[in-house]
Amino acid sequence: MTDSFDNLKAANEALKTEVSKRISDLEHTQSIARISEDSPNPVLRVSAGGEVLYANKSSGALLSYWKIEVGGRLPPEWCDVVDEAMAGKTLEDRELSSLDRRFSLTIQPIVDAGYVNIFGRDITKRKKAEEIIVNFDELTGLPNRALFEDRLHQVLGHARRSGKLAAVHLINLDHFKEVNETMGREAGDVLLRAISERFLDCVRNSDTVARLGGDEFGVIQVEPANSDGVAVLAQKLLKSLEDPFEIDGRKVYSGASVGITVFPDDAGNPEDVLRNADLALSNGKGDDRGSFRFYVAQMNEDIQRRRSIEDDMRESLVNGDFVLHYQPKLNIATNRITGMEALVRWNHPEKGFMSPAEFIPVAERSKLIIPLGEWVLREACTFNKALTDAGLGPIKVAVNLSAEQFRAEGLVQMVKSVLKETGLDAKQLELEITETLAMHNADVSIDLCGALEDHGISLSIDDFGTGYSSLSYLKSFPVQRIKIDKSFVDDINDAENSGVIARAVTTLGHSFGMEITAEGVETGEQLSFLRALDCDEIQGYFFSRPLPGDALEEFLRNFGDTWAITLDQERRNGSIDRRQLEKMRSSC
Ligand code: C2E
Ligand code: CA
Ligand code: CA
Repeated sequence: MTDSFDNLKAANEALKTEVSKRISDLEHTQSIARISEDSPNPVLRVSAGGEVLYANKSSGALLSYWKIEVGGRLPPEWCDVVDEAMAGKTLEDRELSSLDRRFSLTIQPIVDAGYVNIFGRDITKRKKAEEIIVNFDELTGLPNRALFEDRLHQVLGHARRSGKLAAVHLINLDHFKEVNETMGREAGDVLLRAISERFLDCVRNSDTVARLGGDEFGVIQVEPANSDGVAVLAQKLLKSLEDPFEIDGRKVYSGASVGITVFPDDAGNPEDVLRNADLALSNGKGDDRGSFRFYVAQMNEDIQRRRSIEDDMRESLVNGDFVLHYQPKLNIATNRITGMEALVRWNHPEKGFMSPAEFIPVAERSKLIIPLGEWVLREACTFNKALTDAGLGPIKVAVNLSAEQFRAEGLVQMVKSVLKETGLDAKQLELEITETLAMHNADVSIDLCGALEDHGISLSIDDFGTGYSSLSYLKSFPVQRIKIDKSFVDDINDAENSGVIARAVTTLGHSFGMEITAEGVETGEQLSFLRALDCDEIQGYFFSRPLPGDALEEFLRNFGDTWAITLDQERRNGSIDRRQLEKMRSSC
């Protein structure tokens, strides 16, 4: 009895232990299960067929995105994902945006049990941070180009549906590079931020101001009433830059050019809107800074014409369709030819001879002027060397340098190697740069001219008088010659205006040890005035037009006789008013 009681007690104890162990196991299992239940991240179990067997509390956003509940089936594309996982494919984590949240989902197949576990991670915050980096300009906090284009798509879509207008203003700051160069990048950054704020003050909340790149901004104007409303905003944007900016205790001035397209008048899709605004901007940029320009269809034709000239020019450079003409220059004190200017001509395969005034600007814009300019230099030096070798001369050849060439790296080296290659003495070469080019960024120009001078190459300032530069500034330039622009020679007998300027330039140039050449001399009368002004050299149709190489050679050979006749002409034609000449002499 006692035995069986003891046995029963022991069995009971064992049972109690077993039960309490089971309870503890169960509690343990339940508490483990709660881990997934309480997880702040979604946890799901999905059968091989795509049925949701289990979903924790945090899966609510996912289930509502899939529009299902526990027991329901995943959408077909997700059933495919489950299939792939069960088939043993290694799957990358999937990203999914539900409502305003983003999840990354890891899929873990449990093949023998016939289901997959899906573990989600909420990556909303990380994605937002990434989006800010991807869509906003770090410096100004404005939308960047990607977001600008995105908004443009939306705005144009809306405008199309509502039949309203939209406009894009592309804004390019003038001379921003100079602020960066002279005051440092940090000052440039401060300026960009201040400009952004001023632009923001000009627009309505529904408009977008974006920074599209270095010194380029874009504004999307939503629903302007008409093109006047667009012009008003463009004016406002430009006006906002008029007051100086205070940077590092200094007053800094900024300006801009604006190119505008109006949708749907000028373009029917975002790409064309941007392209046309850009065309309008670059069309206005050159000479018309500080202004705004609407796109006009003509610009498209212009650009196409320019492109076709560019293409032809490339071909002609290879095919040798360019030639040089040379215009001789006469020293009027000695009556000797002292030099000639090389002027490029394009013998276009279909259009015949084209004027440099037409193709040089295109060559500059496309940078084709760099290889073309080098060809001109090489050709001119070769020709002058051949003349010298033939006993004609020695004279100087003047070659025009364009702005792009002047700014390009390695100019001095290129000139040096052309001289070496052609064997021409550096003293027989002169490079012409325009006054505007020389004075723009004058310090750099002075250094560059100095470097060329160090190699024995002389420089002249072309088109002098057209660039509003200060005469006293000239002193700093290591140049040997000033060329008085044709416009002053044209009416040189006007003692009050051009005559006085020509005289002042001559006197001042001489006082700096420079020689003076008058361009575009067409009459004996002009020549007589120039003689009276003590000008050194003339160039112009009166003496000779630009000539092809062989004709120039001929001209040099016969020069003595030819000039005797023209001197005679000067006397006969030069019906110069002596009193006026005296007046001019005494007034200077
Ligand atoms: P520029 O350097 O001022 O050249 C003088 C221009 O005046 C030449 O025009 C010449 O033919 C013209 N000219 C000379 N004397 C007279 C005259 O008495 N009356 C009139 N009405 N015109 C005269 P062109 O050859 O048509 O050249 C025009 C411009 O094209 C040049 O002006 C120069 O800026 C540029 N250019 C010409 N060749 C080159 C070149 O090889 N390289 C570069 N970068 N520019 C060049
Ligand atoms: Ca010239
Ligand atoms: Ca000139």
